[in-house]
Formats: sequence, structure tokens, C-alpha cells
Amino acid sequence: AVGQVSVLGLGDMGSAIAKAFVDRGYRTTVWNRTASKSAPLVDAGATAAATAAEAVAASPLVVVCLLDGKAVDEVLGYVDAAVAGKVLVNLTSGSPGQARANERWAGERGAEYLDGKIMGDPPYVGTPRIMFPFSGSRRAFDAHDSTLRELGSVTYHGEDAGLAAVEFMAQVAVGYELLIGYLHTLRLVQAEGVDVVEFTERIAGSVAAYPPLLTQMGKAVKNGYYPPDLGPLSVQAALMDDMIGHRESIGVEAVRMREVKELMDRRIADGHGGQGFSSLFELLARGR
Ligand code: NDP
Repeated sequence: AVGQVSVLGLGDMGSAIAKAFVDRGYRTTVWNRTASKSAPLVDAGATAAATAAEAVAASPLVVVCLLDGKAVDEVLGYVDAAVAGKVLVNLTSGSPGQARANERWAGERGAEYLDGKIMGDPPYVGTPRIMFPFSGSRRAFDAHDSTLRELGSVTYHGEDAGLAAVEFMAQVAVGYELLIGYLHTLRLVQAEGVDVVEFTERIAGSVAAYPPLLTQMGKAVKNGYYPPDLGPLSVQAALMDDMIGHRESIGVEAVRMREVKELMDRRIADGHGGQGFSSLFELLARGR
């Protein structure tokens, strides 16, 4: 065996994780609240533990993948002192605050804690197409990163246990921000009688050009120096009036463009009309 690992939680994701370890030759111990879910893994070569505490006792590395933070609290309650001396890796979705609370819980019981988040679907576990950001104990990460890398593309974000959840929230947010804008745009495209699939094929090429702009905007935000990316705000704001007017004239929602226009107008009123789009960042702290 290349190593020993225990997996607590055998839902779709936990089962895929346990299976990846078994397939790669790890001595794998599994536990699930509903015990019957361990049967396929036992058939594949895993050992089923009768209790969560027994599963934790069986391996130096313990991976937890349950429904939510509430389930984690409940299961860690059964485990309690059995976690001493272990490395606890929690892959359950949740907030930065939950991750930090779990780290305190582990620390109080003499365990090291790593928090991980999962970006991808269960069938991709064990391939580079699923991403696992981690944060928490650097020592634990260094000791076990080759094992964790069996699961997919792994990144480490720092000693603060909340940082993997921050990365997850931010990555997911970019997806939703992009996709809601895309849906608004498809409304406009369809309202004008243009084929949405053919439009999508054309837009794919334009989207591919964005990464350099994202990098440039990130640098502008970090430095607090806003060159006129996309042109000066005073010029962009005029275009925004056309975008809003067009949407209104064809009866589609214009709320996204109105938000952008309102931010531009405020920057211009504050005397920043020569700056670029990234300068809207200055207005996005709550209460500004
Ligand atoms: P499932 O619904 O398939 O499994 C949930 C697991 O949690 C089961 O093992 C279930 O046990 C257990 N559970 C729930 N409540 C409790 C409790 N109170 N006490 C003990 N065990 C409990 O979910 P997934 O496996 O798909 O997801 C697991 C985690 O992975 C989630 O945090 C999810 O957000 C995350 N994730 C999932 C992805 C996916 O596509 N599936 C993608 C990315 C992240 P029982 O079998 O007894 O009900």
C-alpha cells in the first residue's frame, strides 16, 4: 500500500474520493452514517469501520466529505478525542468561518487541520479536471500533498484555514457574474431575432481575449491606479446610455447596464471621468 487514509461520508462525492484512493493502492477505511453505502467500496478493497471514531483511529490522514457544516459538526461530535494526532482534511462545502471554527476544534484536540473545497463533479475525481483548493496547516499539507494530489488539481492558499473557502466563493462568483450577464445578453439577441446558438459561437472567440484584460484590471485594483482600460469613463458612459435605451426599446431587462451606468456617473461626478472601467472598484465597498 502507498499510504493509509480514512474517508468519512460516502455520498456521491465521498464515494468517488474513497474509490480514487482504493484504485491507487491506498489502504482505505470508510465510514458513512447509512452503512449500506460502504458496500461497493468494500467490494473494491476498502475496509468499513463500524463508527466514525473507529474510522478516524484507523489512519493518520482523515478526509471528511459530508453534506454541509451541520453534518460535519454532528460527525465530529462522534469522533471527538479520537482525532488527537491525526491530520483532519475537511472537503465539505462551507464558509471561511466554518473552516476556521473546525481548525480551532481540531487544534483543541491535538489534531492538525486542512480545509479543502471541491470545484468539479464526482466523475472527474482522480483527474486534473477537478480542482481542490486547500488552506490551513502548512506542515500537514506538505506531509500529505502527494496523497491529496491523487484527487485532482490541488492548490494551497495559505495557513489561514478559511482561504480555501474564500477561493471557492470567489471562483463560483465569477461564474455566476459572467453567466447572468450572458443570459441578459441572450435575451437581447433573441429579441432582435438573431439565432442565439450562432451568436454563442461568435462570442466564444471574444471571450478568449479577456484573460489579459482581467490581469490588467487586477493590477489596476491592486495599485489603486486606473488607466483608461476600455477607454475613459466619460466616453463609456455615453455608450451605456445607448445600451440601456436599446434594451428598453425592445422590452428586455436593462438592470445590469443601469448598474454600470450609475457607477460610471458617480465616478465622473467625483472628477474621475478620465479613468478606466476598473476604477468602478472604488465604489464597491459596502456603504460607499
Ligand atoms: P450527497 O448528498 O451525495 O451525500 C451527503 C453525505 O452527507 C452522505 O454521506 C450523508 O450520509 C452525509 N450526511 C448528511 N447529513 C449527515 C448527518 N447529519 N450526519 C452524518 N452524515 C450526514 O452529497 P455529495 O457527496 O454530492 O456532496 C458532499 C459534499 O461535497 C457537499 O458539501 C457538496 O457541496 C460537495 N460537492 C459536491 C459536488 C457534487 O457534484 N456532488 C461538487 C462539489 C462539491 P447518509 O448517506 O447517511 O445520508
